[in-house]
Amino acid sequence: MRQAYLDHSATAPIRPEVIEAVSGALGATGNPSSVHRWGRGARRRVERAREQVAGLVRSAPESVVFTSGGTEANNLALQGFGRPVLASAVEHESILGFRGRIRTVPVDRSGVIDLNALEAALQAAGAPATVAIMLANNETGVVQPVRAVAEIARRYGAAVHCDGVQAAGKIEVDFDALGVDSLALSAHKLGGPQGVGALVARAPESLAPVAFGGGQERGRRAGTENVAGIVGFGVAAEIAARDLRLMVDVGRLRDDMEKRVRGVLAEAPIYGADVRRLPTTSCIGMPGVKAETQVMAFDLEGVAVSAGSACSSGKVRRSHVLGAMGVAPEAAECAIRVSFGWSSTAADADRLVEVWTALWTRLGASRGLAPAA
Ligand code: PLP
Repeated sequence: MRQAYLDHSATAPIRPEVIEAVSGALGATGNPSSVHRWGRGARRRVERAREQVAGLVRSAPESVVFTSGGTEANNLALQGFGRPVLASAVEHESILGFRGRIRTVPVDRSGVIDLNALEAALQAAGAPATVAIMLANNETGVVQPVRAVAEIARRYGAAVHCDGVQAAGKIEVDFDALGVDSLALSAHKLGGPQGVGALVARAPESLAPVAFGGGQERGRRAGTENVAGIVGFGVAAEIAARDLRLMVDVGRLRDDMEKRVRGVLAEAPIYGADVRRLPTTSCIGMPGVKAETQVMAFDLEGVAVSAGSACSSGKVRRSHVLGAMGVAPEAAECAIRVSFGWSSTAADADRLVEVWTALWTRLGASRGLAPAA
């Protein structure tokens, strides 16, 4: 059976060069905080990776604070700034689950933040806030107008945190040009290892650490560094930056796949398709066929896709993202996420279309299901 891994937004296949670099780093002894030669070697490896990650988003290496992943980077930004948070309604759970004061700002039907509502919320906040806005959404790939958000936020003295986890390595990300105070990144979304990420911060010294201990990462993130993971992140970031232009080809694969699905069922909803999206992501509805059923059926055919944002322990919950976009619950429950990436091929896209068509014929069209409104 021809297999196709189309769940890069959950985790991307690790790059072979990363496996090699991580194995090398695992075999090298040394704590980056030790002053002897072993320690200094480990320190050099961490600092090299810091430069590589900074290179991916064109920031200064000193701005990069390594974390255990995107979740911790988001947590560090929100807790670290210590302010009430205004977040778009489509943010990841690692933003929306913030235990402090949080208010959500609505998005339009395409999933783009409502800038007037943001301004009204900033006016109403009274105190300086942190605005949390993702660069690209994990379920739909919709790209947010981060720079415009930052400009509005500045007028109200707000700090701006951007979740760049899904965007980095898929579209150009320039930390300074975004105009934000901090940016969350995660290695495993771009071909690096799981369990390592970074918060890129304009003024890392102003962040209140969420973990305390040995003062690593200049006191911003205590705990002995995950040296091998950080090395892998660095290599993945460097390759992603080098190969960014190849994402245009990936976008063509995605667009062609969507066209062919629409050729089978013209009314198949593709959420966020009318605005700028990542070249990799597609959120497609199969009317009347629950996402869980589709995911299992695709899996039986050797194709990996997911139901909404299935990066959270395989649970299938109704998508808050599609809900915020005004999609009716019955339609939202029938949407799957197909996500391409660096290793995707035309054969993967062909297989997706083949299985989608067979499923629709067997489960949808044959039952006389009407397309969703
Ligand atoms: N932010 C977004 C937009 C994501 O898609 C994810 C992925 O799960 C995260 C944050 C969390 O990243 P990590 O898995 O590295 O904790």
